[in-house]
Amino acid sequence: MATGNINVSVENIFPLIKKFLYSDHEIFLRELISNATDATLKLKHLTSIGEVGVAYGNPVIEIKVDKEGKKLHIIDQGIGMSSDEIEKYINEVAFSGAEEFLEKYKDSAKDSGIIGHFGLGFYSAFMVAEKVEIISKSYNEDTPAAHWTCDGSPQFTLEAHDKTARGTEIILHIAEDSTEFLEDSRINELLVKYNKFMPIPIKFGTKEETLPLPEDAAEDAKPETVTIDNIINNPTPAWTKQPADLEDEDYKKFYRELYPAQFEEPLFNIHLNVDYPFNLTGILYFPKLGNDMNMQKDRIQLYQNQVYVTDNVEGIVPEFLTMLKGVIDSPDIPLNVSRSYLQADGNVKKIASYITRKVADKLSSLFKSNREDFEAKWNDIKIVIEYGMLSEDKFFEKSEKFTLYPSVDGTYYTYAELHEKIKDVQTDKDGKTIILYASNKDQQHSYIEAAKEKGYEVLLLDSPIVPHLIQKLESSKENISFARVDTDHIDNIIKKDEEAISKLSDEEKESLKTTLTEVVPAEKYTVQLEAMDSSASPFMITQPEFMRRMKEMQQSGGGGMFGNFPEMYNLIVNTNHELVGQILNTKTKKKQERLIKQSLDLARLSQNLLTGEELTQFIKRSYEMIK
Ligand code: ADP
Repeated sequence: MATGNINVSVENIFPLIKKFLYSDHEIFLRELISNATDATLKLKHLTSIGEVGVAYGNPVIEIKVDKEGKKLHIIDQGIGMSSDEIEKYINEVAFSGAEEFLEKYKDSAKDSGIIGHFGLGFYSAFMVAEKVEIISKSYNEDTPAAHWTCDGSPQFTLEAHDKTARGTEIILHIAEDSTEFLEDSRINELLVKYNKFMPIPIKFGTKEETLPLPEDAAEDAKPETVTIDNIINNPTPAWTKQPADLEDEDYKKFYRELYPAQFEEPLFNIHLNVDYPFNLTGILYFPKLGNDMNMQKDRIQLYQNQVYVTDNVEGIVPEFLTMLKGVIDSPDIPLNVSRSYLQADGNVKKIASYITRKVADKLSSLFKSNREDFEAKWNDIKIVIEYGMLSEDKFFEKSEKFTLYPSVDGTYYTYAELHEKIKDVQTDKDGKTIILYASNKDQQHSYIEAAKEKGYEVLLLDSPIVPHLIQKLESSKENISFARVDTDHIDNIIKKDEEAISKLSDEEKESLKTTLTEVVPAEKYTVQLEAMDSSASPFMITQPEFMRRMKEMQQSGGGGMFGNFPEMYNLIVNTNHELVGQILNTKTKKKQERLIKQSLDLARLSQNLLTGEELTQFIKRSYEMIK
């Protein structure tokens, strides 16, 4: 038997490992299974190139819990190690890696997020074990098996062993403070979390399975049950296959595999597959989103060579796409670094822009190949697209081809189609084309109708980021501007050259204005006389586009440079309406005042602005009047 000191300059590295990695002890199992997988894949490679005489067979990795003995076993049938190799790879190389890691991240270890996202490898076993054994038999038949033990001090022992089966068994003597890892349920949880899609079958215990009865079985035949290995993983998940080999149903099946608790089907998927200048595979899904931006339950999962790493892909996937679901697998994403470093990494930047481009291309092709279907899905996907248009210029450019602008009547236009349709009718006297929109069909009904009567098209733009988006569109397109239908009287929103004829003389207008301002509270309403159609409303409340938009942007975050806005409105009074003439000509002050108040309240009512005591008073007064 040989004993020796592990080649390490830090006096006792194990307490350090424990301390630094405290937050994420559970990753030890992922690391050990990764090693077992690598060892098996190495053997596969060697046999495939005819290196060795041994047959590859159907190797599995087995996990065994020995609760009484307080041991956890990880057993593989991979390439194995000779005692020289253990000496080299475990005692020297691996440790220097661990040491280097600790040196490098001693200070940044507090930066949560890095811990657990690195490959400390074999030595992470000491986060949960007080003693670790390796029993290994090399694939090389002449080499005897070796047995290594280490109890967490820098001393180790290395001796011969009688193991004859090829491969490595790692035995962890679980420490007092880590007995959770002796529970089957906990181990199962970890295997499902980290190893569900690893490439070598992982066995954990057994299960009963009922065999189907043969077709010619007797009526009283009982189905036979057999005990079979309980295999945790699917070694060939959909993203590792070629898109050409997958049907729509396969993608849906994989979605259910990925998110077993999710019952909603995804709308469509995007298969990612690139190997130059970086390696990346994956499948992204568009879920039904609606207007909810905060649905973050089932997130995109990041894998490296089929090993689960994290579901926090911030910094890797462009932010607007973090609302999607699915998996990304790339060995080229550096993980043992902080997020800010990650964002500066050249590969990661390329990956982010590749994903953005793929998503845009997919949307383009869906739009082209089946526009009807795309329109039907628009409401569920628009939030991602609109957010992407706002945050990624490249995406904004590409989105021109597939972004839709639905009208209140359910017609979907691309921007080009919309512009073509409205440019003749909705261009004002200064040559500006005004795009009208509503945010709520019911609340803005009367304004929508007024615009439609003029032959104008009104869009329905109702997602929470619309104020930001139209700001962006206005600044990137020439000679257009957006206006919500209730922002002013329609003739003022799109000003044409024709001068409206007023029934009232200038003196009458002057007198009307004085009368109105005596009754209408000036701190809330700016009175504005307009000569409109006699059939248009006598009183109308509007809020200037600019002011409303700023307020909305403030509510949805950003654009907060104006502090708190006072509630200010315009009161537009139609001087051509009969009622307004009546107000002007009413001789008693009291009656005049009542007419004005009642009209103002009606205008407020139509804008949902009359509430509380004022509403109660209004209703009371109205009953009095019709009595
Ligand atoms: P890494 O896997 O990052 O190289 P580890 O500390 O996990 O670092 O492992 C060090 C080395 O020990 C591996 O590169 C491999 O050569 C060897 N090794 C570890 N586990 C096994 C195993 N189960 N079978 C064969 N070799 C192993």
